[in-house]
This record gives sequence, structure tokens and C-alpha cells, in this order.
Amino acid sequence: MARIALKEAKVEALELLEKNWPDIVNEFKLHLKDKHHFRGAVHVDQEGARRRVKEAVFVALEDEERDELTGELMYQGYTDGEVIWVHKDIDYESMVGTLVHEALHDSVFILRTTRTLTKRGLSCADEHAVMTRLNGYPGLEAV
Ligand SMILES: [Zn+2]
Repeated sequence: MARIALKEAKVEALELLEKNWPDIVNEFKLHLKDKHHFRGAVHVDQEGARRRVKEAVFVALEDEERDELTGELMYQGYTDGEVIWVHKDIDYESMVGTLVHEALHDSVFILRTTRTLTKRGLSCADEHAVMTRLNGYPGLEAV
């Protein structure tokens, strides 16, 4: 996929995030309640999610990780919570879904004040469980 496709995919991902944000936050809260019986306050970083989509970059060719046998990409994208990297070799719909998926990592935090912190991030497993719930929403099937 070309750079122009990434630009378009970002616009579509931002629209999906915007349109579905109330449902996204709701699904995070439902998961925390169902799975962890947590009904307390959460911190939601929508601005951070938007920024990470806008600033997403392609994975450098030398950083690509492929299955040794099949040659297939090991993943479509990843994030460190600051930067989102997306693979060039994925189709447009996957690119949009990957941008939304990676943007949702590190977007919702549990607020619980301890001596060392107030915001606690969710585990990847919890975040992925929420994304699976979101796959039921139109437009979020590839997230
Ligand atoms: Zn993920």
C-alpha cells in the first residue's frame, strides 16, 4: 500500500473512532464490570488515540517480521503507546482496522490512587477482549 492509502486509512480510522467513541467507552466499562467486577472511574484518552492515528507510520522494511515458513507477516501493526506502526503489505480495510485497533491500546485506564500512581493501564488481554466485543459493531469488524 502506498503512502496515500495510509493517509486515507487514517481519515477513515479517525471517523470510525469519532462515530463509535461512546460505544467504545461503554464496551470498555462493560468488560471491566463483567470480567473484573470493576465499577469505578476510568480515564479515557480520546485525544491520545486521535493523535496516535494521525501520526502513525509504516514499519521500516528492515523491521518487518515474517513467518520463516510461510513468509507471511507476523502482525499487521503494533504500538508502544506513543507511536503506531502499520505494515505496508496489508489491504486497505486491514489498514483501517489496524489503526483503530492500535489506537485503542493505551486509551482507557482504571483510576485508582495508590502511592505510586493514579492511572493504571489495562492488560493487553483485557484490551483485546474489548476489541473482540467491538467487532460486532458495523465498521469495526476488522478492529
Ligand atoms: Zn493488539
